[in-house]
Amino acid sequence: MNQPARNYHMELETFRRHGHAAVDWVVDYLKNVEQYPVLSRVKPGGIRAQLPEHPPQQGESFERMLADVQNIILPGITHWQSPNFFAFFPGNSSPPAILGEIISAGLGVQGMLWATSPACTELETHVLDWLVEMLGLPERFSSKSRGGGVIQHSASDATLCALLAARERCTKGESNHKGGNGRLVAYASAHAHSSLEKDCRIAGIGSDNLRLIAVDENFAMRPAALEAQIEKDLAAGLTPFFVMACVGTTSSLALDPVRAVADVCRKHGLWLHVDAAMAGTAGLCPEFRFIHDGVEDADSYVFNPHKWMFTNFDCTAFFVADRQALIGTLSILPEYLRNQASEAGAVIDYRDWHVPLGRRFRALKLWFVIRHYGVEGLQFHIREHVRLAQAFKQWVRESRQFELVVDCPLNLICFRHRDGDAATERVHKAVNESGAMYLTHTKLNDRYTLRMNIGQTRTEERHVQMAWERLSEAAK
Ligand SMILES: *Cc1c(COP(=O)(O)O)cnc(C)c1O
Repeated sequence: MNQPARNYHMELETFRRHGHAAVDWVVDYLKNVEQYPVLSRVKPGGIRAQLPEHPPQQGESFERMLADVQNIILPGITHWQSPNFFAFFPGNSSPPAILGEIISAGLGVQGMLWATSPACTELETHVLDWLVEMLGLPERFSSKSRGGGVIQHSASDATLCALLAARERCTKGESNHKGGNGRLVAYASAHAHSSLEKDCRIAGIGSDNLRLIAVDENFAMRPAALEAQIEKDLAAGLTPFFVMACVGTTSSLALDPVRAVADVCRKHGLWLHVDAAMAGTAGLCPEFRFIHDGVEDADSYVFNPHKWMFTNFDCTAFFVADRQALIGTLSILPEYLRNQASEAGAVIDYRDWHVPLGRRFRALKLWFVIRHYGVEGLQFHIREHVRLAQAFKQWVRESRQFELVVDCPLNLICFRHRDGDAATERVHKAVNESGAMYLTHTKLNDRYTLRMNIGQTRTEERHVQMAWERLSEAAK
């Protein structure tokens, strides 16, 4: 056979050189990130207008690509890694996570089966067992019991899987085979994340069969209202099957009373799923574990290391108490995936634990993060974020311009201008437009409310102080 005269691949030694340049670029970016306006100022279409209409016919140099990242892409970036990012929830990255990501991309393995890369599966199981220990979660979520953990793409996907497993447990596998019966009903607080409604649509439950339960003055679910709604649905001949409790809602970080909700679930035989997407990370510190009170009765639990735990997206940790319930729901075995290790039942095949088949080696970055910081280092930074948020809360309390909307014990402070919505909106617009910081809002009791979320990897006291000064200035 004739060898082709050339190929178009990047020579590995060239890759080494560009790899160093790319890491240098990231280091410089992270060093300078504070200087950029946090919220991108680009207008819709502004980035595309700078890109060539057609793809290049001939390959281009890496230097040109990197230059375009600097000149075209960077202005269109909202800087989630800025210590002045206080919006939504953090989407943290950190050097050990980035290093894990590089090696994962280099290995480029698919971890759908144990056999397709044993280390990918075993490290994941191991690190998720570590998380059970680190967060003080119940033993039943550990792979050493009947349960276990898996890394998923997002909390939305994990909650979908919980919903599907609950549906199959309730219908004894019937709905997977014969289709839903339109009578299943799911429950969550009125402040639950919107992903649950989407998941209900996808799972064939339907938006109409999701009941949003009333909340108390702290925006936490009222267990008595949950119980009453379940009784009402039972009386109407419907089938309650699933309850989601939120440990830290997105609007205000409200903490549903998991123990009381679990009592209701046990009484009626319902699946209890706990969504601790952001706040779960606080469980690293024993003094914050009160947020997990009652979780030992949950059937499933999810939190996102890709929010507050310094591990860049995507990395959702999803745990179930009975892995058979999950696997029984999602396992399908075509001939081309049959293999000895799986048939022998000696291994975990994570493809059966979520919707997609293919999966990246995400445990590596989580492993690096945990090993770099150590439990002590992670605790230190989480405590520091909470300390800063509590200091901020105190400033709001003592302020003549702002008022506190809800008393959060963790790292999200909700507040508003004493003069009403128009004044709050004016302050909000002014600080975001200044570029010096970025925060987002919500509505609580129909009032426009600012959310100050303190949890970015490198946020320090001086950033929070500066933010407060800007807010106070804008409020005058
Ligand atoms: C962020 C968040 C979600 C959604 O997380 P994804 O991983 O982006 O799907 C769900 N619930 C809560 C409470 C959240 O904070």
